[in-house]
Amino acid sequence: MKPLAGLIKVYIATVIALAAITTTALAEKISVLYVDGQNNHNWAAMTPYMKVQMEKTGLFKVDVITSPPRAPRPPKNLNESQQKQAAKAAEQIRKIFKTKWDEFRPPFSKYDVIVSNYNGEDWPKPVQQSFEKYMKNGGRFIVVHAADNSFPNWLEYNKMIGLGGWGGRTEKNGPYVYYNDQGEIVRNSQPGRGGSHGPQHAFKVIVRKSEHPITKGMPTEWLHAQDELYDSLRGPAENMDILATAYSNKSKRHEPMMITIKYGKGLIFHTPMGHENGKSIQCVGFITTLNRSAEWLATGKVTQALPKNFPTKTEVSLAK
Ligand SMILES: [Zn+2]
Repeated sequence: MKPLAGLIKVYIATVIALAAITTTALAEKISVLYVDGQNNHNWAAMTPYMKVQMEKTGLFKVDVITSPPRAPRPPKNLNESQQKQAAKAAEQIRKIFKTKWDEFRPPFSKYDVIVSNYNGEDWPKPVQQSFEKYMKNGGRFIVVHAADNSFPNWLEYNKMIGLGGWGGRTEKNGPYVYYNDQGEIVRNSQPGRGGSHGPQHAFKVIVRKSEHPITKGMPTEWLHAQDELYDSLRGPAENMDILATAYSNKSKRHEPMMITIKYGKGLIFHTPMGHENGKSIQCVGFITTLNRSAEWLATGKVTQALPKNFPTKTEVSLAK
């Protein structure tokens, strides 16, 4: 009997191992939808790069939806008859763009994670409403760099991103939130504009929550490749957790660089990093942050090991 019992044990162990392999192989990839189409940054080059970096992990299936471009404005200094022509043309353009915008209906609810690389005109009301519904019902959302400049007057969006910049944001939009030199979080409601940055440079990211799945194993301080260091963002800043900061020479504050936000049943990851279609988004630290945040949002955990070439306290590291 003994040898048979042993065989059965081996058999069961093999079945379990095979089942595990099959489950992994068949496990559905995390579905991700990028939204772009308008941005004061080179979105047309940035989105494909970030998409490829995500797909390389083998964890994600990434789609992209691109909004209509901004409608052209009529030229200035026209004489009277030119003005009439321009008005006619403007009316035609308005109709064409209305049709395009009516067709722009991102199927948010089909995706595990939405990523915004969009900074432009307000989305049509139905799109705003469907996005709010998606998020309130448990949607997952990543905000990269200038996507936090978008929609200054859309309150629910600003609640999702926690903090935003530019677009006329002021104290009316909420406090500045940052760390002081003592390592305390400050919520500062003093009057002033939201959103600013100095010249691009490489800067140190300081991990404040090292036990979070996104930051786990990262060096406490790591050098992010050349980027725009956003400072003085402000917004509703509700249900917000700051995972990492960077010291701004301009604001003299430790500005949030990785933020998680709860919104209804939804969950958001916001990073103001990622300005340039170049070093900023080639930074292995940025790519790791992006990929880990997407996995964490979708599954609640991170299985991606920290890359061996992750930046150190003194050395930036660029992906090839
Ligand atoms: Zn920028």
